[in-house]
Amino acid sequence: MTLIDGNAIAQEVLAEVKQRAAALAAGTGAGDGDAAGVVPHAVFVRVGDDPASVSYVAKKQRVAAECGMRSTLVLFPENVSRDELLARLDALNADPAVHGILVQAPLPRHLDETEVFNRISPAKDVDGFTSLNVGRLVQEQPGAFAPCTPAGIVELLRRSGVVTAGKRVVVVGRSLIVGKPAALLLLARGADATVTVCHSRTADLGAVTREADILVAAIGKPRLITADMVKEGAVVIDVGINRVPDPSRKSGHRLVGDVDFDAVAPKCSFITPVPGGVGPMTVAMLMRNTVAAAERAVGVFGA
Ligand code: NDP
Repeated sequence: MTLIDGNAIAQEVLAEVKQRAAALAAGTGAGDGDAAGVVPHAVFVRVGDDPASVSYVAKKQRVAAECGMRSTLVLFPENVSRDELLARLDALNADPAVHGILVQAPLPRHLDETEVFNRISPAKDVDGFTSLNVGRLVQEQPGAFAPCTPAGIVELLRRSGVVTAGKRVVVVGRSLIVGKPAALLLLARGADATVTVCHSRTADLGAVTREADILVAAIGKPRLITADMVKEGAVVIDVGINRVPDPSRKSGHRLVGDVDFDAVAPKCSFITPVPGGVGPMTVAMLMRNTVAAAERAVGVFGA
């Protein structure tokens, strides 16, 4: 069994991002000298003080700085009006000094997430959640910003030497941010997997997951995937981040995935841990999308 080290692979991706950001800042990114002195700039929009959102955004800002990129935090109170939030997004869309915009989910209930995400200019939509970027993903258009977590899954597989072509992939979960785009990316030409997507209404989930050469668990239920649901030799990617009580820890809790790691790992050819698997890749792919957005903004093609 090989443990896929998401931290190490994320560092590889970030080292490449850092080089691309440095080339842009030095004006050598285009190769034709017309991209002088642009520092990639991401704007993170946070509404309210949800502790998980506070920590995710802080982490993204920290990593952006490590990559030589600029980031700005735009903070709104929990009760911000729809109109005020959308007006700010319009202003950020129009600002040529802003290359990437990310609105941290979840938003308070009075705001319509789909409407808010769709207000972001597709060229600055580094999370890949706008209808246009989702549509481009479906059409397999080059240059679509793919959502960061599923893009990170594909990158983890590729850099671990896992071949997806012709393999049976089972994705458990059909959310817009993980399950559905993960299925699309693995189905796309180039990845060429045969993909099945499961959800809470799937009958006999174990019978389906046991067919998987590559199993992607994006459910949000601690240890739902047990050893009897996994084929011998399977590759298992655990997207889940679940907080469970653990009195032995000072914090009183710890993070576990959607996979019963201790029982499943011995059956696998490759498996990701939680934490330290998919999580770091999500941030790394966000940085890659941001540097690509900046490159495109200054006319570096093929970014
Ligand atoms: P959602 O709650 O949006 O989606 C969960 C999916 O799992 C749904 O499609 C749901 O089915 C399905 N599901 C729920 N229960 C079952 C079940 N018993 N059997 C089969 N399918 C089930 O979650 P997300 O996709 O946003 O996130 C999934 C997990 O990944 C969470 O733990 C989240 O914290 C984590 N995550 C991790 C990230 C990272 O960077 N590592 C980034 C994003 C998320 P249905 O559609 O029928 O309700």
